[in-house]
Amino acid sequence: MRITCPHCGARDAQEFSYLGAADLARPDGMAASEAAMVDYVYLRDNPRGRHRELWYHGAGCRAWLVVGRDTFTHAVISVEPAKRHAGGAA
Ligand SMILES: [Zn+2]
Repeated sequence: MRITCPHCGARDAQEFSYLGAADLARPDGMAASEAAMVDYVYLRDNPRGRHRELWYHGAGCRAWLVVGRDTFTHAVISVEPAKRHAGGAA
């Protein structure tokens, strides 16, 4: 699989680290229930099809990216810097 980094161009996926779902919202730790925090920390969906994911280009520009990917075909649909993503990690 190749990911086209907006800063470095098309690169092998081995240059990147996968973090997880890009749209995962952290609950308010002071107000959330224990079950809600357990869900946030440990439980993940395993979607088939289009998914937005956070990737880190550690062997390149060290940018966090939001990658739109089809988890069934592994086709990369979109790549954008996480800074542009509302609630992004970078
Ligand atoms: Zn890069």
